[in-house]
Amino acid sequence: MSEQQVETAAPEEAEEEAAPGRVVGEAPDTSKGAFRPITVVGNPVLHHACATVTAFDEELSALVADMFVTMYAADGVGLAANQVGVDRRVFVYDCPDDDGVRHVGVVVNPVLDELDPAQRVLDESSEGCLSVPGAYADLARPDFAVVRGQDQHGAEVVVEGTGFFARCLQHETDHLNGSLYIDRLSKRDRKDALRQMAELTPRYETVPND
Ligand SMILES: [Zn+2]
Repeated sequence: MSEQQVETAAPEEAEEEAAPGRVVGEAPDTSKGAFRPITVVGNPVLHHACATVTAFDEELSALVADMFVTMYAADGVGLAANQVGVDRRVFVYDCPDDDGVRHVGVVVNPVLDELDPAQRVLDESSEGCLSVPGAYADLARPDFAVVRGQDQHGAEVVVEGTGFFARCLQHETDHLNGSLYIDRLSKRDRKDALRQMAELTPRYETVPND
């Protein structure tokens, strides 16, 4: 997922951001990875469900390292494996929540919890995607998410998020299920997002579509 679109918050509001500097998770060693070009809407790898990971090996560690490097280079807050052309259920994230807490990590074979309808509060905010470069659209999503899966060594993990981070967890899990956020928009908003993308040259290397 892309960084938040810059919004003009009132200065008082900006000062209220709580818990600055708190980090949940471990920052990766980015000296080991390399940038991989990013796939964009239309590339088949983005439009079908990715394969379950069964081998927690060095190849997976190398993929995760490359994904972190790629996400940082593109100023993203989340990246799924099919966004670097790899058909595997893996995503990485380094994303703030609405309390200013930074969440960093990797989830392999993620599954989103179904929320109790009573718990489900929708938040309509701006969303963007590194695979739809330059485009943003408002999209309503639950403001809370729980993802269950494994870490890169195969140990079980449960990751919970609120606000912008909840959005990120849902966005990245959608990717691995073969959906982009623009697939959740109205026809008109989707068209507008694709127009925004067509008008802009990405700031990072992408994989050309045939
Ligand atoms: Zn995305």
